[in-house]
Amino acid sequence: MQEITLNLHIHTNYSDGSLPHAEVAKAAIQCGLDAILITDHNIRPEGLQRYYQDGEKKVLVMIGEEIHNQARQPQKSHLLVFGADQDLAGFANDPQVLVQKVNEAGGISFLAHPYDPAMPAFGEDNISWDDWDVTGYTGIELWNGFSELKVRALSKWQAVLYAFFPEFIAHQPPQETIIIWDNLLASGQKVAAVGGSDSHASQYHMGPVHKTIFPYEFHFRTINTHILQESAFTGDAAIDSRSLLNALKQGHAFVGYDLPASTCGFLFGIETKNSSVIMGDEIKFQPNLELKIHLPNSAECRLIKDGKVLASWNNKMDITHAVENKGVYRVECYRRYLGLKRGWIFSNPIYIR
Ligand SMILES: [Zn+2]
Ligand SMILES: [Zn+2]
Repeated sequence: MQEITLNLHIHTNYSDGSLPHAEVAKAAIQCGLDAILITDHNIRPEGLQRYYQDGEKKVLVMIGEEIHNQARQPQKSHLLVFGADQDLAGFANDPQVLVQKVNEAGGISFLAHPYDPAMPAFGEDNISWDDWDVTGYTGIELWNGFSELKVRALSKWQAVLYAFFPEFIAHQPPQETIIIWDNLLASGQKVAAVGGSDSHASQYHMGPVHKTIFPYEFHFRTINTHILQESAFTGDAAIDSRSLLNALKQGHAFVGYDLPASTCGFLFGIETKNSSVIMGDEIKFQPNLELKIHLPNSAECRLIKDGKVLASWNNKMDITHAVENKGVYRVECYRRYLGLKRGWIFSNPIYIR
């Protein structure tokens, strides 16, 4: 399998981000990303999806959209849409119809920042997902690098401190979001998880002081989504976009917090005599199934079955675990960074039915 590192949920100056696509692409190239997925609010500009080059290096830029009903107060239920290749913001007032339109257009969709509480000190509303009867979406944004600030900053001063030292923000996906995910999985549906940056690189001006809060380069080294696909990128934007979308749709992916240490090389799968499956896949329960986990660096590794910790290991990089029952199995890894144990890797599940 080939690993592709991508950053998704990005705003440019087409909505409330600060830089144009070419500049954002340049930052992504500097950070060594293979692809970025732009999602401006309720707009999908045409003609910008392609490879962007900087010297010898290039990055695939895909144009998605973050859609929500702007007439609603508070403006809850944001949907990340990829691969629909058309602007679907006109369907924002009915999230179920919107999801159907995305599917009909051959796209995929993820519930953005499902748990996103209010931050009264800054006049920020609760913009969690609110339409839980909607079905047919691909998955959820398990970890959102920007909205985690609303969970961690409990006062104005803390928020200001985090603005100057953003590397202290990311702890792990909000517990509320993890519970939402496990509950959705427990209902029997497949729910793929991705990590998003929600990068805006907002500019703040106070007298002579100008500061970019959370620059794109910061986000691109922080919470990324890593996908696994059969073959490497070809350099053809149309072909590579299709394989990337397919991997996200299948959940052949994990969320990696790459700032403490690169998460590249993580693997979670099962090999049998006849087949091999990886995270996101489903396999029939049978005797002698073994889950295999490979960590690219030392960490605490937890195997989660049906939302509960089944086993854990410390600083073991190659792990084999015999499967005794059907269930939804996923992996969480934690590492110490800047004085705290922080989430490092969150895999998609393997569904053993
Ligand atoms: Zn949003
Ligand atoms: Zn956003």
